[in-house]
Amino acid sequence: MTIAVIAIQGNVEEHIHALKEAMQKQKLDEKVVPVKHKGIIPYCDGIVLPGGESTTLCRLMKHEGIDIEIIDAAKQNKPILATCAGLISLAKSGGKQAQKTKQHLLGIMDIEVDRNTFGRQGDSFEVPIHISFLNTPYNAVFIRAPKIVRVGKNVEVIARFGEDIVGAKQQNIIGLAFHPELTDDLRIHQYYLQLVQENTG
Ligand code: GLN
Repeated sequence: MTIAVIAIQGNVEEHIHALKEAMQKQKLDEKVVPVKHKGIIPYCDGIVLPGGESTTLCRLMKHEGIDIEIIDAAKQNKPILATCAGLISLAKSGGKQAQKTKQHLLGIMDIEVDRNTFGRQGDSFEVPIHISFLNTPYNAVFIRAPKIVRVGKNVEVIARFGEDIVGAKQQNIIGLAFHPELTDDLRIHQYYLQLVQENTG
């Protein structure tokens, strides 16, 4: 099994590290490949889309032709884990801010996001939240994070911070407003790997 980590910008190394650690813990022998160009994703079993800056991320994915490959992978129900800017790039709608910048969103997840809801870089914070598939709280790191303001009927809310939706799941796609790759808690990456295993199994 091979997992593609989109390596255009953002916390690429951190996701690769977390995936490798999670694999070791689960005694899995999968490959993780950083992907910058088209032609690799069709041969992968799952995709991880890190955070960063979603306008740039979307523009470069389109330029590289990776956008179409991710859309195709989603159609084939391949598991996708998208965090922060990654989550934004998968959304159907990015509200006014995305319209203003004519952001090229992939439109894979039936959600609307509101970018930069929780303030600027300096307002970053870490807070324990409940995630539906975990038994105990998870320390979520928020950095210029979006929130999800609308979910379609096939989308399940999996995490909230107060009233705000900060995690959603649509079939095999998990979108998170926070950064699981920046903590030592591997449970989200482990859960994701389990989805990949079940899907290829
Ligand atoms: N604020 C960024 C955006 O809108 C996302 C921040 C992040 O990925 N940490 O694209």
